[in-house]
Parts: sequence; C-alpha cells; structure tokens
Amino acid sequence: MAHIPERMCIVCRTRRPAGELFRLRADKLSGTVVADTHTKQPGRGAYICRNIECIRLAEKKDAPRRHLKLAVCEGLYRQLEDML
Ligand SMILES: [Zn+2]
Repeated sequence: MAHIPERMCIVCRTRRPAGELFRLRADKLSGTVVADTHTKQPGRGAYICRNIECIRLAEKKDAPRRHLKLAVCEGLYRQLEDML
C-alpha cells in the first residue's frame, strides 16, 4: 500500500493528503509569503486547505505570517480563491 504524505492546515489543523491543500512558501527573493504553484520550489512551506473557509480565516488571523515570519504578498488570498 502506497504511503500518502499528509500535511496539516495551519488554520484548522486538519491533516489531509498534500494534494488537498495549497502550499505557501517563504520567498527569499521578494521577502514575502507566496503561493507555491509548482510544489517543488525551495523555501519553508505552510499549508492551507483548499476551501474558502480556511483561506478567509488565514487572512483574518494572518496565519501565514505567524508561521513563516514574513508578510504575505499582495493579492495572495485572491489568488488562492481563484485557484479553488
Ligand atoms: Zn484548514
């Protein structure tokens, strides 16, 4: 049986298969948290469920900043919503 890697949402702390979450990463170049659209890019990562509730709550609680110690990039939450 294949092992499915699980990741934990930084908002609701639910563990899910990695494919069911968005990966955010600390982008050293811009000094912000960005959406990792290719999944293998370098940088510390954090995960958020692919649902509107966790995206909205992440924005409200500023969860990515607390986890990755960087401000999120302009328009990040709208970008995630567009990817739902
Ligand atoms: Zn979640």
